[in-house]
Amino acid sequence: MNLIILGAPGSGKGTQAVKLTKRFGVPAISTGDIFRANIAGGTELGKKAKAYMDRGELVPDEIVIAIALDRIDECDCKDGFLLDGFPRTTEQADALERHLAVSGRSLDKVILIDVPADELVRRIAGRRTCADCGASYHIPDILPAKDGVCDVCGGELKRRSDDNEATVRNRIEVYNANTAPLVDYYGAKTLLARIAGTTGPDNVFADTVKALDK
Ligand code: AMP
Repeated sequence: MNLIILGAPGSGKGTQAVKLTKRFGVPAISTGDIFRANIAGGTELGKKAKAYMDRGELVPDEIVIAIALDRIDECDCKDGFLLDGFPRTTEQADALERHLAVSGRSLDKVILIDVPADELVRRIAGRRTCADCGASYHIPDILPAKDGVCDVCGGELKRRSDDNEATVRNRIEVYNANTAPLVDYYGAKTLLARIAGTTGPDNVFADTVKALDK
């Protein structure tokens, strides 16, 4: 099963990607996570990506396309993958389609998690992530048992550096300008499943699974 999960920053893509990975056994590939790992590791790629990420801008297509396409050629993706945060432009989507065709693969479904803009800002403002295991929390929606401490591993809960208000507004504008056109792009290819993203993580997941079963 070759899937894309599409949605604005704060739509809950990452949360759904974790659940879908557990259900269907395909690896979730987040280009944002790849960049954050490179920033943490102090690599050249991380240094390049950080400047764009801090401003809420997209990392240039030529950088992100090479990384994403290499990743889906790794052997854990041979029976499927779930892309979270890629593609974000029609150039990236075209490159993905051409690359999959070369290896006789194609996309099975593109899931769009639909959330209104005001709710996106509220969600991102409250988002916290465990610095050690990556578990997600939200203040006040998903509180840890102990303030600032991860329930899973005891790690410290942190706010992503690009989750501040100015960067978030820019990321949403960038999404509307560059990524929202992919809704029509995949709609025209009859690959799109539109899921209401405001019904709570479990209902969003159930609706997604239903759409994938069709
Ligand atoms: P995310 O974790 O998906 O919200 O991504 C965080 C940031 O990484 C984005 O705001 C971009 O700066 C960068 N990024 C991640 N994926 C892409 C992509 N497909 N194209 C361009 N930039 C990306």
